[in-house]
Amino acid sequence: MDKFIVIGTGVFGLSAAYHIRQRWPTAQLSVISQPSRLAPSDDISKIVRVDYNNSERMTEAVRAQEQWKGNNFSTLQRSIGRIVIYEQDDLATLEKINNARDELGLQRRQRGDSTLMQEFETIMAPKSLTYILAPDDSIVDWETCMSDARGRAKKACTDSGGTFYESGGATIVKDGARVTALMLENGERIEAGSAQVVLAVGPWFAQMLAASDITLPPNGRTPVATGLFSYAVQLNDEQAAFFRDRPMVSHSGKGSVGKLTWIHPFTNLHGSTISLVEDLSESALAKSHMHKAIEWARTDGVTETQDPIIARHPQFQNLVCAAGGSFNRAKDLPTIGSIVADVLGGQDVSERYSWEPETRHSHRNHSHLVARGDFATMEKEAQQHGQDSVADHSSLAVI
Ligand SMILES: Cc1cc2nc3c(=O)[nH]c(=O)nc-3n(C[C@H](O)[C@H](O)[C@H](O)COP(=O)(O)OP(=O)(O)OC[C@H]3O[C@@H](n4cnc5c(N)ncnc54)[C@H](O)[C@@H]3O)c2cc1C
Repeated sequence: MDKFIVIGTGVFGLSAAYHIRQRWPTAQLSVISQPSRLAPSDDISKIVRVDYNNSERMTEAVRAQEQWKGNNFSTLQRSIGRIVIYEQDDLATLEKINNARDELGLQRRQRGDSTLMQEFETIMAPKSLTYILAPDDSIVDWETCMSDARGRAKKACTDSGGTFYESGGATIVKDGARVTALMLENGERIEAGSAQVVLAVGPWFAQMLAASDITLPPNGRTPVATGLFSYAVQLNDEQAAFFRDRPMVSHSGKGSVGKLTWIHPFTNLHGSTISLVEDLSESALAKSHMHKAIEWARTDGVTETQDPIIARHPQFQNLVCAAGGSFNRAKDLPTIGSIVADVLGGQDVSERYSWEPETRHSHRNHSHLVARGDFATMEKEAQQHGQDSVADHSSLAVI
């Protein structure tokens, strides 16, 4: 193989480009890059955590973590640990995580209590919840990481005699059993008949195949674009210094463990000289502050099994698909591309990555991140009933 074209410069595409270059150093590498602020990989920070409920995924996370600590990326991550807070009905998950950790000979997560939160000087940590400290989890300065990785991919293209295209791929042109060309949004045509093409466009995967009139994977294996709203919190220097080396906190339950405060003070006079203390949390003003704080709606490609698809397209000899999962593959940036390279090289990979796995797994890692409905229906409901329609069922979580 002497020519590769990777479409997409998110986690999968960049990792694939890196591993292709390592494995086939004399091959020509080209990359088609069109970053988007809606993409899961274009985030501000990411967690590298090692607490999955099955040993296979845990093994991958351990391998990825070793790379984060040892390779070019090590200066971008900080091992500050993470406090994970479990509701009573979530403790079964903790038990599964500990079973998986036992299997791999890793230390069990020890149950602690709300005193773990003392270093945040908070009085808001309910005593009824279970707190554990995951000391080996780390946080990555993700914007810098992505920008470095894209810089490296660009250099790899130039060094190998290929091109780093900064325009989106519009359609894939095919003839018989081969992809023959790629049309870019700027009208450019890239010949691809003699290349291996890697399609790594995350949640845009189905859109791109459909636009090219190419068969999608079977139901459940096509990554479904699944969105959620993110809120960015702007800290001042003092606050940033306070939080910088303290552990991250994750909590996907209902209890209050932290608060976000919008500094936009107001009085409440009702036309009198005496200002009233009132609960204004349901007011339009409160909602509009919340609304302004929404920085983006970010989307990931979620497959039914929550395992990505990393497989050759059954109808096209030179098209490999690499996308999907469920909100947890950023940590695999140093490693996931080696699986893409295995597929390109004709090696066997775990069947859970295949086009159509024989075993049907359930939602294994992130059951709370399965879509709860379609946007159009949920939006209509929100318009009719205001925030009550979703508030009862939503939780604030760090993922
Ligand atoms: C809010 C949020 C938080 C997360 N937090 C974590 C975390 O803390 N830790 C963790 O491990 N994982 C986390 N994840 C999951 C992780 O971000 C994703 O698994 C990963 O980024 C997916 O990468 P990707 O390459 O498949 O997709 P993408 O990031 O979508 O990459 C695909 C790229 O292709 C581009 N593209 C699309 N169409 C085209 C086209 N036609 N031509 C060229 N380019 C195109 C897109 O703009 C994008 O840049 C999180 C996800 C979300 C949404």
